[in-house]
Amino acid sequence: MTANERKPEDDPELSRLAGKKREMPGGLWLKCESCRQMIFRKELESRQRVCPNCGFHFTLPGRERVEITMDPGTFEELFADLSPVDRLKFVDQLPYPEKIHSAQRKSGQAEAVIAGTGTVKGHPVVLGVLDFSFLGGSMGEVVGEKVARCCEVALETKRPVIFFTSSGGARMHEGAVSLMQMAKTCGALSRLQRNGGFSISVMTNPTTGGVTASFASTCDVLIAEPGALIGFAGPRVISTTLKQDLPKGFQRAEFLLEKGQIDAIVPRDRMRDDLARLLSFVQKPA
Ligand SMILES: [Zn+2]
Repeated sequence: MTANERKPEDDPELSRLAGKKREMPGGLWLKCESCRQMIFRKELESRQRVCPNCGFHFTLPGRERVEITMDPGTFEELFADLSPVDRLKFVDQLPYPEKIHSAQRKSGQAEAVIAGTGTVKGHPVVLGVLDFSFLGGSMGEVVGEKVARCCEVALETKRPVIFFTSSGGARMHEGAVSLMQMAKTCGALSRLQRNGGFSISVMTNPTTGGVTASFASTCDVLIAEPGALIGFAGPRVISTTLKQDLPKGFQRAEFLLEKGQIDAIVPRDRMRDDLARLLSFVQKPA
């Protein structure tokens, strides 16, 4: 039996640990949201958070994404001090500033997007990573600004720009200002494209709403991770509105590839190689 096939129920010790899951600090075990198998957390983390049983790609924290994408020691973060503003004095269960504060405390970063420069297998790039763990990777004013600035830095430094997205869409706490970011990011990207720049979007699970409907879908090359949910409105909303059953695999990466909405599906362990190959079409490694 390989490590991949090991199941907690096969081993009394593993089973005992799995049963005590809730008592463990941080949880030693977790359940795969796709195949429902118990996974040893350390094993999952050592496999770039890809399920050892079914290959499901768990959502990666933004910092981990930067780490597994960039050449070690090359990432230099940009615009890390930009912090959201509560223009609407928005309150739902909690006032918006309190939500921001709690997300900042948990993530150690000021906003949902991590921007910077570095190299991928020797190719200099600008990188923007949307972190789902920060208010669902939602796009407000600062996320839009940082995405636009990534495009501007790419233009100035003649580097390709790569975006990794995982997002619930526009940030409702910022109302119309958040929706404006769709036009703003597309504008910045279009300016880069008109001036000979090169852009790659990697949509990861889940990429939805205003992020799918703007810069994530308008880069030159559109990549998705296997099984990623990618769409505008969620499947339940569409199915309820249309009063129809949706086709199997609707809004999943494989469905979108078949329909021509994305260019490729790249598993996480091949991502750096494939990005480097794409980058080699437009530049030589430094
Ligand atoms: Zn699984």
